[in-house]
Amino acid sequence: MSKNLKFDTLKAKVADGAIDTVLVCLIDMQGRLMGKRFHARAFVDGGYDETHCCTYLLATDLEMATPDGYASTSWEQGYGDYTMKTDLETLRLVPWLSGTAMVICDIFDHHGHPIAHAPRAMLQKQIARLTDIGLSPTMATELEFFLFENSLDEIAKGGFRDLTPISGYNEDYHILQTTKEEHVMRPVRNHLFEMGIPIEGSKGEAEAGQEELNIKYAEALACADHHTIAKHAIKEIAWQQGHAATFLAKWHHDRVGSSSHVHQSLWQGGKSMFYDPDRPLGKSELMDQYMAGLIKYAADYTYFMAPYVNSYKRFAKGSFAPTRIIWSVDNRTAAFRLCGEGTEAIRVECRIPGADMNPYLAQAAMLAAGLKGIEEKLALPEAFSGDAYADETSAHIPRNLRDARDALHGSDMLRAAMGDAVIDHYARAAGWELEEFDRVVTDWEIARGFERA
Ligand code: ADP
Repeated sequence: MSKNLKFDTLKAKVADGAIDTVLVCLIDMQGRLMGKRFHARAFVDGGYDETHCCTYLLATDLEMATPDGYASTSWEQGYGDYTMKTDLETLRLVPWLSGTAMVICDIFDHHGHPIAHAPRAMLQKQIARLTDIGLSPTMATELEFFLFENSLDEIAKGGFRDLTPISGYNEDYHILQTTKEEHVMRPVRNHLFEMGIPIEGSKGEAEAGQEELNIKYAEALACADHHTIAKHAIKEIAWQQGHAATFLAKWHHDRVGSSSHVHQSLWQGGKSMFYDPDRPLGKSELMDQYMAGLIKYAADYTYFMAPYVNSYKRFAKGSFAPTRIIWSVDNRTAAFRLCGEGTEAIRVECRIPGADMNPYLAQAAMLAAGLKGIEEKLALPEAFSGDAYADETSAHIPRNLRDARDALHGSDMLRAAMGDAVIDHYARAAGWELEEFDRVVTDWEIARGFERA
């Protein structure tokens, strides 16, 4: 597999005309790539070090609104600039766009201080806390999404009605149906692989038009970068092929939702510290404590895995999305699934995150919770077995954004791990989503009551 692009190689490619454009990107609160298109010559001649962006990019919503209530930036503060500093380790070619490379930036104020609520900085902070105790977090995120017959523009012009998935039936593991989607998925796999993202494969998922892309596990920051670039690639390549891809957690109440499960393990010196062949299931005491932290604080951090009103529609019984905060061995009905029992590949899969999550925030939050479990030396509850949807005794995942926002706002654990200002910032983001949803009249209300109310 090709490695990330070296700066000198980029310079040579710019000199011989192979590259003329560099995407200089930051990660926003929604986990999207935002930024600027540099002429490649300007980038290699000096722009490669830093550029600037408006502070509102880290205080806005999906539609780029400028809500009040953020301490970090506002109309009163004049919405000034942040400094975007390139992380040249992330320099890559973008094979599906001609003559184009990309780089991811970290965000600083004018005095060189990292912006604490920038998603990449939030993950870097939690990774550093684990590094301090000699542990290296390793993660894999799965990307589920739906492909549609029509293009994004056609769907938007049609008012997002009468959406037709690209296939007519549940295509879970189907080779025949997914062959019909190879004009999208083959370039997705191959272009990402070519740019150094360790693609394992793709498969049909458990609904008409639903796909999954698997990327090999990596160090946590790299994993979040891979996820973000892959999600972006899927949207752009689907668009190039005249189709639409959506990562909404639940695009229709009668269809299953899309998840983004996160596999996690902690390593030291090239060895998984979650593996202990002498203990039951091959699970180390450290893994017990980490999992116990994930479970104890799951409600606190659910917002970071389910950030929209829509996200909570996914947590439905019998849908393969979890409802109960329990763990179980290789059981897809539980929120936490132990995978790879008795082997060096032992890991915990958190099934709470939806496809709409921001991977930097979700991973940062889980690392904070797991680390707290280690610090508190928590005991892991007994494993659940059976159908977790039927278990009325265990705690339920927060049922809606309001509950998740309140749990986030009240979380002493997250406040200690991430800082009060960061938690207040994201609680405000959740509050703004709620305000907007409460204000808007939905199709459902009209159809239900127009005649009959
Ligand atoms: P599922 O059974 O949920 O479909 P998959 O087999 O598709 O799971 O995906 C497993 C994921 O777990 C892969 O992306 C793989 O790279 C990742 N993985 C394997 N070993 C580890 C590990 N030790 N730590 C974290 N992730 C791992």
